[in-house]
Amino acid sequence: TFGAMVRPPAQPALPGVKHVLLIGSGKGGVGKSSVAVNVAASLARDGARVGLLDADVYGPSVAHMMGQGGAKVTANAERKMQPIEAHGVKFVSMGNLSPAGQALVWRGPMLHSAVQQFLKDAAWGELDYLIVDLPPGTGDVQLSLTQTIQVTGAVIVTTPQDVALIDAARAIDMFRKASVPVLGVVENMSYFVAPDTGHTYDLFGRGGSRRLGEEYPLLGEVPIDIDVRQDSDRGTPAVLAHPQSAAAQALTQVARNL
Ligand code: ADP
Repeated sequence: TFGAMVRPPAQPALPGVKHVLLIGSGKGGVGKSSVAVNVAASLARDGARVGLLDADVYGPSVAHMMGQGGAKVTANAERKMQPIEAHGVKFVSMGNLSPAGQALVWRGPMLHSAVQQFLKDAAWGELDYLIVDLPPGTGDVQLSLTQTIQVTGAVIVTTPQDVALIDAARAIDMFRKASVPVLGVVENMSYFVAPDTGHTYDLFGRGGSRRLGEEYPLLGEVPIDIDVRQDSDRGTPAVLAHPQSAAAQALTQVARNL
């Protein structure tokens, strides 16, 4: 159990990588991958060297959201995985290894080794940030990552309604027990502004994520915005495709708040 988990005293940092940032959530579907992709693209646009590891092995969306769903990861001359590059970000995703539509039926140890390979056998080169899009929840992949490399911190993505917050609190507790600092919370789908009337609707209860506690700074409130969804389906993160939108500006601010 996580309660019994003890982190070895000095974990190795990843060579050449200044910061490893984990993006986690309690539930699926709250926008964790969208935040990971947009934060990565935003940091890269601001001039940082950025890698993005899609560790959401059961629902790998990064490749598609980066517009590279059909690309294949290849081996370089040193027989390392060569990350794919798009929008200034180097990334690897299970979505670039297994054909779309095929299920991954793997047990914990196999997931562990897949993520370890993404971490250690990919030619990341020198990076300021390696962003890791975790699977939702508190499972094997999260455990194995926090136990094998030194992580700068974790960002929790949640929507503001109670059922999401309860699971987000569990994810926070997992990171706390694993001695991974929680850098803050992103409230996604925080509110919706109707484009025709300009009226604001707090569909899921804007501001609810503040109930997770004062010690976890609110890194941003990202509205529901059809462009966020369409841009990710089209393969260009909203921070690049619609930088003036309120959602893109909130996502850019999340990256700058890190
Ligand atoms: P998760 O990684 O938590 O499972 P995703 O990032 O895959 O969630 O998002 C789930 C769906 O919701 C995607 O279709 C995505 O485009 C959409 N989505 C995420 N955030 C927003 C938002 N702020 N506004 C509109 N659609 C969003």
